[in-house]
Amino acid sequence: MTYRADITIIGAGIVGLGIAAQVAREDREVYVLEKNEKFGQETSSRHSGVIHSGIYYPEGTLKAKLCGTGNRLLYELCGKYGIGHRRLGKLIVATSDEEAGELQKLLDRGQRNGAEGLRILSHREMKELEPNVAGIAAILSPSTGIIDSYALMKFFIARAKEGGAQIAYQSKAVGIEKVADGYKVAVEDSTGKFSFTTRILINCAGLHCDEVAELAGIDIARAGYKLHYCKGEYFSVGGGKNTLVKRLIFPVPPPKVTGVGIHVNFDLEGRMRLGPSIHYVDSIDYAVDNQHKQLFYDSARVFLPFIEYGDLEPEMAGIRPKLQEPGEDIKDFVIRDESDKGLPGFINLIGIESPGLTASTAIAKYVWDLIAGYL
Ligand SMILES: Cc1cc2nc3c(=O)[nH]c(=O)nc-3n(C[C@H](O)[C@H](O)[C@H](O)COP(=O)(O)OP(=O)(O)OC[C@H]3O[C@@H](n4cnc5c(N)ncnc54)[C@H](O)[C@@H]3O)c2cc1C
Repeated sequence: MTYRADITIIGAGIVGLGIAAQVAREDREVYVLEKNEKFGQETSSRHSGVIHSGIYYPEGTLKAKLCGTGNRLLYELCGKYGIGHRRLGKLIVATSDEEAGELQKLLDRGQRNGAEGLRILSHREMKELEPNVAGIAAILSPSTGIIDSYALMKFFIARAKEGGAQIAYQSKAVGIEKVADGYKVAVEDSTGKFSFTTRILINCAGLHCDEVAELAGIDIARAGYKLHYCKGEYFSVGGGKNTLVKRLIFPVPPPKVTGVGIHVNFDLEGRMRLGPSIHYVDSIDYAVDNQHKQLFYDSARVFLPFIEYGDLEPEMAGIRPKLQEPGEDIKDFVIRDESDKGLPGFINLIGIESPGLTASTAIAKYVWDLIAGYL
C-alpha cells in the first residue's frame, strides 16, 4: 500500500486530536495513527481534568504561555460548542507561616503568566468562601475549572473528520525514514505491515514520544528527549464529603515543582477525589497501591480536617511523561521542527505532561505556525 499524505500525526490523545482538528482541510490529506483500538486510552483519560490558570510555570516557558492561552481558548470552545465544563475556581491553601510567605510569590508569578483574577484571601475571607477548609490564608484563582476531556476529544475528532482527516486505529508507527520530500512511515496494523509517505510528520505519542523520535534517527539522550515516567495515583472520597467544599482545593506546592501536590478535585458529576501523588516508576502500570492511602489521608487532613481514613478508596492512576529526573528543576515542553537535525517537517512534541490538557488548543495553534510554511 503506498499513498502520500500531507500531514501525519502519530497519537490520538488529546494533543494529537487537537492538532488534527486544527490542520484538517478538504484539500489536505491528514492522517492520525493510533496504536490502540480507541482514542485517548492513555494519559488523556488518566488525569485530573483541571483547566489550569497558569500559576505554577516559570515565566516565558511554553508551559506558562500555552497554559494561559489554552485556558482562555478552552473556555471559549466549551461555551460555543457545549462541551461539558465548570468554572469552579480554586484555592491554594497555606497551612503554615512558611507557606503563607510563598503565596505572594505564587500570585506574582501567576499574574506575570496572565492568570486572570488572582487574589490573596485572608483567613476570614477564605473561611467565608470555604468554611470547612483549614488554613491561614489562600490564593483564589477564579479561572481554574474542570472539563469533560472525553467530550473535548470527541469534539476534536468531529472537527478533524469534517475537514476530511482519517484516524487509523490499531495502527502503530514502527519505522520512520527521511525521503526526498518528507518521510516514509512504516505502520503495523491488524493485517500486517505497510508504509506510506507523508510530507509532514507530527510526533504526539505521549508516553512513547521518545521512542518515536528515536525511530526518526534522533539520539534522544543527546537531544534531552529521554522520558522519565512519573506515576500519579488518585483516591476517591466517599462518605458524602463532596458537599463540604465547592472549589478545587490545592496545597502550596513545594519549591521544586514536580507536580502541583495532592489536591481536591471533582468530576463533572460532583464526585470528589484526591490526587495525584508523585513517584517515579520504571514501567507503565496503572495499578493503585492501597498502601498509599495513609499518605493521601495525611496530605489531605492538613487542609481538609473533615476527611476520615475510611472515606478513601483507590480510584485510578496516570503516568506523567516527564523530561526532568527526580530532584531536577522543572523542564519545559519541547515542541519543535527538527530542521536543525536534518529533519525538516518532522515536529516533535516531547514531555507533554500537565498542563497539556489545558494547553491542547493552544498547542495545536503553535504547531500550525510551525508547519504552515511547508504547505
Ligand atoms: C496524573 C496526571 C494528571 C494530570 N492532570 C492534568 C490536569 O489537571 N490538567 C491538564 O491540563 N493536564 C493534566 N495532565 C496532563 C495531560 O493529561 C496530558 O498532557 C495530555 O493528556 C497528553 O496528551 P497526549 O495526546 O500528548 O498524550 P496521550 O494521551 O498519552 O496520547 C498519546 C497517544 O499516542 C499513541 N501512540 C504512542 N506511540 C504510538 C505509535 N508508535 N504509533 C501510534 N500511536 C502511538 C498512544 O497510544 C496514545 O493514545 C495530567 C497528566 C497526568 C499523568
